[in-house]
Amino acid sequence: MEWQIHGHEWAVSLLQTHASTDKRRHAYLFVGPEGVGRRTISLKFAQSLVCPNPPAPGQFCGTCRDCRQLESMTHPDLSILVPEEGHKDILIDQVRALQHSLALAPYAANLRIALLLGFQRATEEAMNALLKTLEEPQEKVVLLLTANTLESLLPTIVSRCEVIRLRPASIASTRAFLQSKKGLTREQAGLIAHLSEGRIGAAIHMAEDPAYLSRRQENLIAFLELLPAPRYQRFRLAEKLARPYDKARENVGEVLPLWLSFWRDVLIRVSGADLPLVNLDCEPQIDQIATELNISQARQLVVNHEKAIQELDLYANPRLLVETLMLQWPHVSVPLVIA
Ligand SMILES: [Zn+2]
Repeated sequence: MEWQIHGHEWAVSLLQTHASTDKRRHAYLFVGPEGVGRRTISLKFAQSLVCPNPPAPGQFCGTCRDCRQLESMTHPDLSILVPEEGHKDILIDQVRALQHSLALAPYAANLRIALLLGFQRATEEAMNALLKTLEEPQEKVVLLLTANTLESLLPTIVSRCEVIRLRPASIASTRAFLQSKKGLTREQAGLIAHLSEGRIGAAIHMAEDPAYLSRRQENLIAFLELLPAPRYQRFRLAEKLARPYDKARENVGEVLPLWLSFWRDVLIRVSGADLPLVNLDCEPQIDQIATELNISQARQLVVNHEKAIQELDLYANPRLLVETLMLQWPHVSVPLVIA
């Protein structure tokens, strides 16, 4: 079956050649922003490496047990490395455990495949430990790493991998894809193309979650309502997001990127940059706020929201983070109707 990957044609064709000839390398590094499709493309590559009945060179059948188990990430010869529950980093012990399992012969397939997701989260010790595996390749092992940027990894890791850079698709082609393949209306497809900034994995995720757009709209209106509001009203939302206690991080994690994207849009307008807005449906509000801020105020809001997202990952108190941001928001009255 075809890989059905949108927007990464050259990468697919290179990987198909590697899967069907002796060009296969022992380690691949898929680099690009979150949601661009790094995991999806690496799993399709794994299927094309392992499927015993590919219908054409470099493809896979999609129906055999190997293909199905790889797709659902339950294949016995597939090892997945992500931070353990409650940790933000990939630790050296996890890399060592992975190395032990890779030393064993494949159980069901022709290869053992290790998928190391978001490897920029590995500690330096863990990265150094992985180097050993990269330096002494085993014949029946393929490593697939994903990461946000090359700079977030040790250069010695990067140099030992075949680097596959995945870039976001254009807004126009993302919109066309969402309309033709996901059955969205022109308006919905346009909005999601902008919201995902052409990161196709993120776009599909949004398109397939029927409640995504309505949840976003609700969060957006709650945010716009608070722009003219006094501090105690803003803090009421902070309090609401922090409940129940065990959901606070998740709730705040959902609104922070939305707020950040809004302030980025404001900064784009304040600075006069020729870039597309992400929140296309809030253009009037964004334009209005842009007239009331100078460039350093807008930039500061963006920087502070970016920092808050990082701190949320580092286990800062979610409610306190939100309240601190709310104190920095300007007081502006904007229309609450979203296009
Ligand atoms: Zn198959």
